[in-house]
Amino acid sequence: MKKETLALHHCYDKDVAHRTMAVPIYQTTAYDFGSAQRGADLFALKELGPIYTRLNNPTTDVFEARVAALEGGAAAIATSSGQMAAFYVIANLAQAGDNIIVSNKVYGGTVSLVNHTIKRFGIEARFFDSDTADNLEELIDENTKLIMYESLSNPQIAIANTEKIVSVGNKYGIVTVCDNTVATPILFQPFSYGVDVSFHSSSKYMNGQGSGIGGVVVEREGLNDKLISNPRYKHFNEPDESYHGLVYADIGMPMFSLRMRLSLIRDIGGVPSPFNSWLLIQGLETLSLRMEKHSKNAYEVAKFLNNHPKVASVSYPGLESDNQHEKAKHYFKDAMCSGLLNFDTIDEKTATKAIDSVKIFSIAVNIGDSKSIITHPFSTTHQQVPQDVLKTIDITPCSIRLSIGLENVDDLIEDLNQALS
Ligand code: PLP
Repeated sequence: MKKETLALHHCYDKDVAHRTMAVPIYQTTAYDFGSAQRGADLFALKELGPIYTRLNNPTTDVFEARVAALEGGAAAIATSSGQMAAFYVIANLAQAGDNIIVSNKVYGGTVSLVNHTIKRFGIEARFFDSDTADNLEELIDENTKLIMYESLSNPQIAIANTEKIVSVGNKYGIVTVCDNTVATPILFQPFSYGVDVSFHSSSKYMNGQGSGIGGVVVEREGLNDKLISNPRYKHFNEPDESYHGLVYADIGMPMFSLRMRLSLIRDIGGVPSPFNSWLLIQGLETLSLRMEKHSKNAYEVAKFLNNHPKVASVSYPGLESDNQHEKAKHYFKDAMCSGLLNFDTIDEKTATKAIDSVKIFSIAVNIGDSKSIITHPFSTTHQQVPQDVLKTIDITPCSIRLSIGLENVDDLIEDLNQALS
């Protein structure tokens, strides 16, 4: 089945009692095992089924199965936020004394996660240039546990060299991880390039209406082969004392997800509420249509800004004149690059005035909402980033980020035109 069909039908046999068209919200904490033996079998993994909503939930199961199907993966696990997803991925692979290699162009929250919180757990973050991946190999040693990057980075909208990242990861037997939040499975398929694990902030395009925080982690088919007997990942191959000596490599299930659920989710929690999973199921149903429309609207807005006298530069890889356009054509369906775009005004005053003058755009720090958003990264999302770092990532007081929504694009252009006048 194709993505549009999977997003609507995958993994839901209509509820036996009522044949509901919509996936029901199973708003429950626990499940009746029916017998003592069945409870024991569920805990011993002799039978798979709902135990307790921190571990699994039938509404969340449908969301997870649909994301796995859309991404073309073997299994997915939903989390309470995109940040939680990133944390789980790191914690599932690395421990104190290890290091991880992260792209220099990732979401600010990921930078602070790896530079501060993860560092306090004794895990060192090293940074590489994901545009080329030229300096990636030199950062690797025997304690390197993952290479992480964003397919389409937030906020720079930089396109990573996925082939090179995957080939270096495979050469050293290191798990490669792609944050596919901005591109979504509709525009970019990490697993078709051999990436091992993807994750998303489902708070963005997957939800699509800015109505709930969520995250999801997906593993590719066949990842077990990379983990089994790999000396970098002993904890997947040796008995887990916290689960009566279970060896994940012996179970024959997608073991990255299995360990994440049985060990990390069990111990830490951080899962979505059934209601948020239901909202995300609604979001997935229209994701392919929305990604097309977001991208088309963003392309039109980028074209308009590119010719505006008060605009110094525009960054949108879908634009034919953009220096990433060849890469956009290579990686993204019809060079569609989502609704995210950046531009710089000719001076700071123009940027401030434009932000204060918009009528349709909201001044907020989110992306992927159906409603358009304008952000001034310099004074908000990147306020705490040191000046010298800001220069390397091209964020100045004149920089404006737009998350283009689903409004009529003529209205958006008119709004920006009056705001820039
Ligand atoms: N990854 C990317 C690319 C993001 O843009 C964000 C949030 O903006 C996150 C991860 C974190 O997601 P959340 O806000 O759902 O925790």
